[in-house]
Amino acid sequence: MAPTKSLKPKRKLAPVGQTFLSVSSPRSNRKWVERKSCGIRILQVPALAKIPWLIHGFSTKPGGVSNQDSQKVLNLGFTEWDTKDNVLENRHLFQSALGASGLKLTPLKQIHSDVIHVFDTPPTETCQGDASITNRSGLLLSVQTADCVPILLVDPKKRAIAAVHAGWRGTLARIVVKAIGQMQMQFKSNPGDILAAIGPSIGGCCYEVGTEVATQFLSQFADAPQWFDEFRTGDEPNPVQWLNMMPPGHQPPPKNVLLDLRKANRAQLLGAGLPAANIFVSDLCTACRRDLLFSYRKEGPQSGRLMSVIGIRPQG
Ligand SMILES: [Zn+2]
Repeated sequence: MAPTKSLKPKRKLAPVGQTFLSVSSPRSNRKWVERKSCGIRILQVPALAKIPWLIHGFSTKPGGVSNQDSQKVLNLGFTEWDTKDNVLENRHLFQSALGASGLKLTPLKQIHSDVIHVFDTPPTETCQGDASITNRSGLLLSVQTADCVPILLVDPKKRAIAAVHAGWRGTLARIVVKAIGQMQMQFKSNPGDILAAIGPSIGGCCYEVGTEVATQFLSQFADAPQWFDEFRTGDEPNPVQWLNMMPPGHQPPPKNVLLDLRKANRAQLLGAGLPAANIFVSDLCTACRRDLLFSYRKEGPQSGRLMSVIGIRPQG
């Protein structure tokens, strides 16, 4: 007796626990897992996933209803090449896959700033800014990225959360440090309790920036030289140490360099008082993994948007 086959996709969510394959160092990615549902693949950090009242996730490209290069993709941001209906349907699918359908998604109009919103209730219109924090249940804080660094923060003790968008401008403006400062001010969070998940973004392997960007970082951060690498072929034995030799504000580097924004944000989190063991960094590079992620650098205006979300489950 053969069981009846159903063509309908299963609504049941796959259990968390499958290790996500990494292209580079599997070490830092060991702490990340993938959750699959209806063709949608969501990245999560087990340390956050096990907090019973918390919902979090980083979207990826596969699945969804948008068409890109004759592929179905989960574009979660409004773009010129995609329809509003597709994006809204994708957001609906993403929230369902996460078990977050009951939460109110609160997207921001991101402007590469250090503007942080404190949400007590869902905003009636989209706010301009690049981070939001709350300690209220029922809100799904979010940031959209396609190379920039998404950072989710949770204070398990004070039950407070944040979603942060950090491109090079936001990183230079220390937006993640300021978000933690807001959590301290608003919710009396202790940085030593906060967990941080730094999601997939463009890696130090691919993020080439001009000398003017490097100079700004060098003038602001003592450890900035560690975040840069010379743009090279990979054959050289050692990265040239020009950044270490150069006093801030003097002689700009000779050419473009590679910036590791994840390293920069991790350093800022450590500086803000988070223990190293509380910081989880995805090493997936948006530009290297176009099969899995969206990259504005690689795809230009035809790129989709990833979404990173965090929320407190409604009670009862
Ligand atoms: Zn890369």
